[in-house]
Amino acid sequence: MIQKMALDEFDSLGDKVIEGYQLTDNDLRTLLSLESKEGLERLYSAARKVRDHYFGNRVFLNCFIYFSTYCKNQCSFCYYNCRNEINRYRLTMEEIKETCKTLKGAGFHMVDLTMGEDPYYYEDPNRFVELVQIVKEELGLPIMISPGLMDNATLLKAREKGANFLALYQETYDTELYRKLRVGQSFDGRVNARRFAKQQGYCVEDGILTGVGNDIESTILSLRGMSTNDPDMVRVMTFLPQEGTPLEGFRDKSNLSELKIISVLRLMFPKRLIPASLDLEGIDGMVLRLNAGANIVTSILPPDSQLEGVANYDRDLEERDRDIKSVVRRLEIMGMKPARQADFEAVLGC
Ligand code: SF4
Repeated sequence: MIQKMALDEFDSLGDKVIEGYQLTDNDLRTLLSLESKEGLERLYSAARKVRDHYFGNRVFLNCFIYFSTYCKNQCSFCYYNCRNEINRYRLTMEEIKETCKTLKGAGFHMVDLTMGEDPYYYEDPNRFVELVQIVKEELGLPIMISPGLMDNATLLKAREKGANFLALYQETYDTELYRKLRVGQSFDGRVNARRFAKQQGYCVEDGILTGVGNDIESTILSLRGMSTNDPDMVRVMTFLPQEGTPLEGFRDKSNLSELKIISVLRLMFPKRLIPASLDLEGIDGMVLRLNAGANIVTSILPPDSQLEGVANYDRDLEERDRDIKSVVRRLEIMGMKPARQADFEAVLGC
């Protein structure tokens, strides 16, 4: 349908999606091939129209707590892979409680507890369950867990102690590319863990990387792959080469920008949460991502935090503009505002 449309007909695309139109693979090819500034602006505008239809000018805010940067895996794209000789930390329970104190009443809708696949927690997963319980008791907020590929019994216990959301990214549904990225890790294991979590009442987040050797067909595979899991949040993140990793020198030639894919995600998943991460370009980047159709700001760090992000564009910067007050100020300038907690809990359904 779309390849036959003149540029100005893009303006009706948002309406069509709101009426229930589902993009075909040829539509995806056309949208992912867009390169002209005008074409892209119209794509972003269609995505905003859909986002605004379902969410108005309200935005959700997710706090990121990377509580352990230890990991037993060797993902080729990741700074924290076990072969990279970097400084690592693991917060103590007391430090986690202290962090929670700084978050009370700050205005977050959800807290994301993230770690690498830290052997300390994988040897005794009850330590992780206890951590979830403590954060729930301290804050009473919805909790997202991003612990890597935990076993089903632990996912179940964490759910019982208050975890609401499981973030587990496939990175790609192109199995050849997957093998290069998530070296030595089961493809199906991640799919099955999200499926199990969903059956246990979790919301789930899936995510893909772009700029990491994905061409248009590979990206369509990934977009379709994410659809099969009925995710509640769908993320795309630009690969940023990380010092000391196998992909440190990798430079992608494709033009599959994160912004273009965010808009396509909004047209494919009209009512879902789509992140505008601070992790790549800070608050200026957040504005671009919201303008492409995103509706939840992620990687907001606790106030005055020295904790890590994932891609950490700001690792060498003295000033990190990743705090909630700066985010809310910029939202106001954009004519947007934080949603009510009740709005978020309605989206969660739990
Ligand atoms: S992406 Fe996650 S599992 Fe892979 S090396 Fe990094 S922290 Fe570990």
